[in-house]
Amino acid sequence: MDLELLRTTLEAAGEPSYRYDQAWAWQARGAEDWEAMSDLPAPLREKLNEQVPFSTLTVENEAVSKDGTIKVLFTTADRRPVEAVLMSYRDGRRSICLSSQSGCPLTCSFCATGAMKFGRNLTSAEIIDQALHFRRLGDVNHCVFMGMGEPMMNLESVLEACALLPDLGITNRRTAISTVGWAPGIDELAAQSRPMRLALSLHAPNDALRSEIMAVNDRYSIEEVLAACDRHYEARRRMTFIEYVMLSGVNDRYEHAVELAALLDAKRYKINLIPYNPSGSPYEGSSRAAIDAFQKTLEAEGIGATVRLTRGQDIAAACGQLAANALAG
Ligand code: SAH
Repeated sequence: MDLELLRTTLEAAGEPSYRYDQAWAWQARGAEDWEAMSDLPAPLREKLNEQVPFSTLTVENEAVSKDGTIKVLFTTADRRPVEAVLMSYRDGRRSICLSSQSGCPLTCSFCATGAMKFGRNLTSAEIIDQALHFRRLGDVNHCVFMGMGEPMMNLESVLEACALLPDLGITNRRTAISTVGWAPGIDELAAQSRPMRLALSLHAPNDALRSEIMAVNDRYSIEEVLAACDRHYEARRRMTFIEYVMLSGVNDRYEHAVELAALLDAKRYKINLIPYNPSGSPYEGSSRAAIDAFQKTLEAEGIGATVRLTRGQDIAAACGQLAANALAG
């Protein structure tokens, strides 16, 4: 919901300012529509229903995986595709994966979003409306900005959304912002005061290889990006998660693991190995055995590494698959 529009509409109607808080509290708790907001006077509910769209997004398609993962394809008012995912785990974790842009201006060679046309930055309302959609389905408690787009290129709107997420039940400590390594954005994140986690998509242990698979590396080298992560650590005292997508024969050899471990201070970085989800690119994912061996080498070299659970694969809701095929232009 466009909260600015809500505010100005209430003001124009001469309503007291607490009406705004009431309406937002209902939204944040998962209200289905204006009608449900029983402590707002009926004529006001009617007026809001006419003047303030309940969501800035329209649901185009919803797919449910056999593991319970839900992927939703939305469109914005100007028909841009936006995808978001809800993952539920047995331990009670209910994690949402949000998009910060429609499409992505970066062109990482293995990523489906990178292959589609860039649309535009999403507004903070369009970001929080993805979260509110899942909040209406039940509790939510974790959030990652790992959907479509590069959050650091739209950080102002991402931070505005982060300011609202706690009202939905997602604390900033349980929110992670994932970046391709857009160094100025990492510094901006360090300079603000909310304790979101930083995740860095590194994917290669040296510049030659990283530039080959991620063009952005020509702009910000590994050294520059890790220096920014170190400044973020100094400022916020939160470890950075290194994302490392496992591409068979490309970045998954023994020497890559040794080089990666040598690059990172184990007190400041933890590695998350991501099984690759085929997405029409020329790459193949590393085998389970190769991933396990890579993890063991990292651990032997003294740095903590986990392997990410793959979820929602049967509905193309897994990492990097949010390409919005139905509408991509
Ligand atoms: N632009 C941000 C956030 C979006 S992508 C970033 O790059 O971090 C979230 C993660 O999914 C990134 O680490 C990205 O490299 C990874 N990813 C992209 N395509 C993938 C695929 N097909 N399989 C597995 N992970 C993928």
